[in-house]
Amino acid sequence: MRGIIIADSVDSSLAESLVKKGVPLKIPLKYGKGQLQISKRLETPWEGGPRVGISPEWKKLEGKYFIVAYRPGYKEDAEKILGYANYARQIVTGKYPHKLPQKVVIYLYDRKSYFRPPFTMWTDTKKYEVNMLTPSDQTDRWMDDRWYKSNIIHEYAHIPFYQDLFAQRYHTVPSWFSEGFAEYFSLFCSSPDILQKYGEQLDKIRDMVRRGEGYFIFIAGEEYYGGAYLVKYMIEKYGQKAVTNLIKSSALSFAKALQDELNVNPREFENNWLKWAANEFGIDYDKLYGY
Ligand SMILES: [Zn+2]
Repeated sequence: MRGIIIADSVDSSLAESLVKKGVPLKIPLKYGKGQLQISKRLETPWEGGPRVGISPEWKKLEGKYFIVAYRPGYKEDAEKILGYANYARQIVTGKYPHKLPQKVVIYLYDRKSYFRPPFTMWTDTKKYEVNMLTPSDQTDRWMDDRWYKSNIIHEYAHIPFYQDLFAQRYHTVPSWFSEGFAEYFSLFCSSPDILQKYGEQLDKIRDMVRRGEGYFIFIAGEEYYGGAYLVKYMIEKYGQKAVTNLIKSSALSFAKALQDELNVNPREFENNWLKWAANEFGIDYDKLYGY
């Protein structure tokens, strides 16, 4: 679901001017098959699917902030996931202080009861629920401990984000912002081993910038990894407080909130991204983008 996409508002004129200048335009594939395979998840951030597979024999492991619900026989998995969840909360709280009205429930399905592909994790932010296949029922090595850790950070970060967003007047944000916000915490605020696991995906974004395809619209099209860099840029350029205020803004639209809280218009916001990215990736801005 996409609402106001600020990149779109600038895209057509930018694209036109680039074409006139003879710049070849290549729109990145959003969900290429390869990407989905190693991709992180399918999710429905604000509406849950049908509750399938939960039955009375499920057990509960309760912590201070989380309840892990699991199938009998998977207690070790539940303990591990509770540890990861506490870690996730600590990471997100560090930069984005928040209070949730209830404990988050994490459902650990076994292979038989999980009704989505094994490489997906999903969150219902209104019900404070996160759903996933239990770790020991994974058969693909890609879904290792780092995968669980990073994706639980990602899913957890969605919860305070949407709680605060839905308390405001505008409810739609571009997907690069919501996914990028979650992925920023997952990749750039966690541990080096997680960063390393996703290094190849992040290098793709760096290479786009180095090839001269680092324009905002293209990076925003890569909503997870591109989004993570866009949020990193926002936090480093405009400050954590400004990004927090953007989520909590009482403006009527995301575009207006951006203007109010970051004090930039969309064009400046996009241009500043390129300058930041050139610096971040050590490339010559003037040579590649300075026409
Ligand atoms: Zn997400």
